[in-house]
Amino acid sequence: MIERPDAMQRVRRAHTETLLAQLRSAGPLSRAELIRLTGLSRTTLFDIIGDLIARGVIIEREPELTGQRGRGRPSSTVSLNPSAGRIIGIDLARAGITVVVATLSHDILARGTRAVALTAGPARRADAAARLIDDLVREHAIDLRALEAIGIGLPGLLTGRGRAADGNSAGAAKQISARIHERYGVTVTADNNSRLAALAEGTWGAARGVRDAVYVRWGDGVGGGFIVDGQLARGAHGAAGEIGHVSVEADGDPCPCGGRGCLELHIRPAALIEQCARRGVTVRDPADLVAQAHAGEPAVREVVHRAAALLGRVLAGAVVQLDPGRIAIGGVMAQAGDTILEPVRAEIARLAIPRHPRHVEVVTAQFGDEGGAMGAVAAALRLTASESLLPDLPLA
Ligand SMILES: [Zn+2]
Repeated sequence: MIERPDAMQRVRRAHTETLLAQLRSAGPLSRAELIRLTGLSRTTLFDIIGDLIARGVIIEREPELTGQRGRGRPSSTVSLNPSAGRIIGIDLARAGITVVVATLSHDILARGTRAVALTAGPARRADAAARLIDDLVREHAIDLRALEAIGIGLPGLLTGRGRAADGNSAGAAKQISARIHERYGVTVTADNNSRLAALAEGTWGAARGVRDAVYVRWGDGVGGGFIVDGQLARGAHGAAGEIGHVSVEADGDPCPCGGRGCLELHIRPAALIEQCARRGVTVRDPADLVAQAHAGEPAVREVVHRAAALLGRVLAGAVVQLDPGRIAIGGVMAQAGDTILEPVRAEIARLAIPRHPRHVEVVTAQFGDEGGAMGAVAAALRLTASESLLPDLPLA
């Protein structure tokens, strides 16, 4: 049987990753050591090493002659190129900026967050992100001459003031991208930060290795992303994944998006805290909401349970339409664990074509607040991935 080229490429990527993983964990190694540690054949290993050296991913070091004596000629070693490929991921969420600096080999060199005023416009946000990057670079002595790409995550369809974004957010994204590009001189890619969080889950987190998955970020806003056939779905207008704006009550309250009765209005923590208050239970903030639900406070538990069931209903729709293998739920409410996962599972089992039951895993997402920035790293890595340097990326 003749192997298909993409299958061969996958094998090659897997071998490359095995080799890089050894260099990441063990540091400089000789070829003989690498053959022993990776179990790869000499031909394959030499071929991959040659390729990686040519691309500047790894470097060869001549032996220090004074260091080793006897036992014949000391051999040279290879190691990851310490100055190769830096990637920056930025999440410009409404209330705060998160920055992650990573390497092409997926190591995190630095991470940081900084508060920013809700009213700050695109230029101020971009500048605040740049200051945070510069501080991190200084603190961690990172050489940005090797910077390859920057990914930027931005809030969804609505602006910080809750106004519908008739092109505003696209305009803001352009302005921020241009400013960051001007400053660092590398390729910049920008996307919705909830969708990027989905990409982070698909690349390294709870949806890794799953070709069809749904991610929901259940926090102050309710957003998400779909991974369809291994690709992050952006939609015809770049608006795919806005699960929070699925209407669950056609004549319900007007939503800032212009619609009515959107899911987000019903299940965002602020609404749930209000519902608890109406039942005479004081809940301080979303974290307290999760804590009290966990502790079994009956009114809080019921409010949270009902909200999760409503989310489950909307997700049952997504299951019917997209047939995902896994659903990952993140955001502050995901910290409630099974308290929210169980009602979601139950509604999917009850409503998503129960006559043909399917196995959809509903799990907690892996990344917390850092998901957007990590997804921005993943998106930026993809810009550089055309070289196939990144065997680690399951999403083609
Ligand atoms: Zn809406």
